Amino acid sequence: MRIAVFSTKSYDREYLDRFNGDAKHKLVYFEAPLNLDTANLAQGFEGVCVFVNDKLDKATVEAIATNGVRLIVLRCAGFNNVDLDAAKQFNIAVHRVPAYSPHAVAEHAVALILTLARKTHKAYNRVRENNFSLERLTGFNIYGKTVGVVGTGKIGEVFCRVMLGFGARVIAYDVMENAELIKEGVEYKTPEELMEQSDIISLHCPLNKDTKYMINKDTISRMKKGVMLINTSRGGLINTRDVLVALKQEKIGNLGIDVYEQEEKLFFHDLSESIPEDELIGRLISFPNVLITAHQGFFTHEALEQIAFTTITNISAYEDGKISGNEV
Ligand code: NAD
Repeated sequence: MRIAVFSTKSYDREYLDRFNGDAKHKLVYFEAPLNLDTANLAQGFEGVCVFVNDKLDKATVEAIATNGVRLIVLRCAGFNNVDLDAAKQFNIAVHRVPAYSPHAVAEHAVALILTLARKTHKAYNRVRENNFSLERLTGFNIYGKTVGVVGTGKIGEVFCRVMLGFGARVIAYDVMENAELIKEGVEYKTPEELMEQSDIISLHCPLNKDTKYMINKDTISRMKKGVMLINTSRGGLINTRDVLVALKQEKIGNLGIDVYEQEEKLFFHDLSESIPEDELIGRLISFPNVLITAHQGFFTHEALEQIAFTTITNISAYEDGKISGNEV
């Protein structure tokens, strides 16, 4: 099939080409993201391959359908950026990569927690300047703390087990409880109880109309003073302005985020020579107890292999009229 690959980085090309054995599919790479302005690039292609920040709203879906596109393959698990009703209306199939190393994202959440808890990001810079002082580097143990996990699907499940391994008390909220995790010691709670009891809260649920801004001034008001909040899921789960106020009031003690509501204008780009436009992220960056990574939770060798393999498998299954099991 002829597929237009959008938001391409060097690693996308490298891994997709490797798994597109014998160049079975004709993959044409575009650096541009897919949105209404770029939809015309999809002319002459049967499918588009997109990532987290491509914007497939109704108008864009209609435009690519008019250009002959019949398939959207997502190189990610989340599909909140695709108007599924529009895809159905215009008879476009949507496939995703439902699981590509939940360990990659879960371990990244742990990396954020440990960095903030032990201030290793500061220690690294100090030692490079021959500053071997420990002043103001006091951290805290994860052992014995209460860790609240929102969403115990594939990533949340792995994350719960890692936290149990640290000797933390793990409490969770999910619309569907995971019986295995209960056997292993995870306690399910109401969202309110989770907010009230957790020392660390980590978000692992999808972004949808029920979860948008689940972290807001009301839910924050229930949290313990000094709580650590970790978001490796989707930026829209958090009302960033409310979180900023809570950071200033020292209600939130540490914030670790791999996702940001306005990330599509920033993440995956080198803007080091540009005048900053996003004041909100600038204010977040200025806090000593905020750690931001640019959506790199998925970014391991193992995950990139799995993403490329599943994406190519999804395209082949669609072409062959088979069920991939990854249809959205
Ligand atoms: P999953 O579908 O396996 O699990 C999601 C869980 O959230 C499910 O158990 C579901 O029941 C639960 N859930 C749904 N609605 C909920 C609600 N209202 N409240 C609480 N829980 C709810 O998904 P996953 O593979 O574990 O991925 C989780 C999220 O991680 C994705 O939606 C995506 O946004 C994000 N993600 C981020 C990266 C990254 O690089 N940072 C990479 C992959 C995925």
